[in-house]
Amino acid sequence: MAQAEKTQPEVQKEDSMWKQKEMIARNYRDLAASRETGRKIVSTFVPGNLNELFMCFDMISNTPETNALRNGMMKKSGAMIMEAERHGHSEDVCTYVKADLGMMMKGNLGPTGDPLPMADLLMLSYTGCFTFMKWFELVRDEFGGEAVMLHVPYQADGEITQNMRDYVVKQIKEDVIPACERISGIKFDIDRLRQYMAQSAKAEDDLVWVLETAKNKPSPIDSYFGGVYYIGPIFTAFRGTEGATDYYSTLRQEVKARLDAGQGPITPDGELTEEKYRLVVEGPPNWTSFREFWKMFYEEGAVVVASSYTKVGGVYEDGFRHDPVNPIESLADYCLGCYTNLNLPARADMLAKYINDYEADGLLINSIKSCNSFSAGQLLLLREVEAQTGKPGAFIESDLVDPRYFSAANLKNRLESYFQMINQKRMAA
Ligand code: SF4
Repeated sequence: MAQAEKTQPEVQKEDSMWKQKEMIARNYRDLAASRETGRKIVSTFVPGNLNELFMCFDMISNTPETNALRNGMMKKSGAMIMEAERHGHSEDVCTYVKADLGMMMKGNLGPTGDPLPMADLLMLSYTGCFTFMKWFELVRDEFGGEAVMLHVPYQADGEITQNMRDYVVKQIKEDVIPACERISGIKFDIDRLRQYMAQSAKAEDDLVWVLETAKNKPSPIDSYFGGVYYIGPIFTAFRGTEGATDYYSTLRQEVKARLDAGQGPITPDGELTEEKYRLVVEGPPNWTSFREFWKMFYEEGAVVVASSYTKVGGVYEDGFRHDPVNPIESLADYCLGCYTNLNLPARADMLAKYINDYEADGLLINSIKSCNSFSAGQLLLLREVEAQTGKPGAFIESDLVDPRYFSAANLKNRLESYFQMINQKRMAA
């Protein structure tokens, strides 16, 4: 990587961040070169992605949500959303979808500027969000590609039954694997899958270790703004690769060093030296003004010690690991257990547990205007978590990648009021 990039003054980047940056850049280069190399592209969603399986067919993974959020961080998503709206997509549609469609309509250059060839396989792992289905239906109808659906039953009763597992396993064996074999021309080898699963499990151990360091005071990490970087490789095209395992091992060493030194998280303006508030956050961050949003927290000494967003691509803290011994069953369990596939009571219990286990001051919900799947019920969630923990909650609203829905003054006001409320509660106690 260019030395000039390394010396940018505004952000402190650790080795793990450089490793991740290089992995992402390589993946976009591989996608761009796929027509020459003959490798097939699979587009799939972050929750319920079967990355280890696709690697058995030398496929290159492309996750549309991460393209959208990267375009959002680079301030490119606004024009893409407008383009999709000009083609008739309503203002209320999920802005990840509009950013993705708009990107394709404008020539399909990815976030790094490399061309993104259309996917050969649209692998629709349906984990809790109806929009996923409509999204790939639109992509298939407008831009082509073969769609294969993996229907993952919703955890309506808060548990995974053997029937549910069998149903997903059957689809992986009878629909997903044959489609991958046909499209890639490569025969499935279960031993190859086992090797990738073993790599995933190592990386997952390290990720859990890193996220749980936030139980310390001060926390050496921010589990939301920093957390979005920590989950990057495992939630996208790299789970199961040696590169991802190496990334998490490096990250663990870096976080351990900060923990041993009693240091706080690293922010874009350097280390946070005084931890005043410990929060649990529900909902994704705003991407178009990510730095500005983060600053509203660290300037006040607020650290996010746990977040649901770092679980949307897999919940590992309760012990689930990708299992090389029963690889296909474990892929099914992975899909069934994603945060997006949990019902409201399970989510409330999880957030309340975070507040207790991480000794947080309360729950903050960043409700996403255009995410109809997860914004519904969030006020109920807030009240339930407040009732379970006795800690005050707060509700703010923004959007994922639509810059029109980020009101900095409004958000800052609400956050400041929330911090005052926490102070009052402390004084009263
Ligand atoms: S979960 Fe929300 S943000 Fe994600 S695809 Fe569904 S509607 Fe969009």
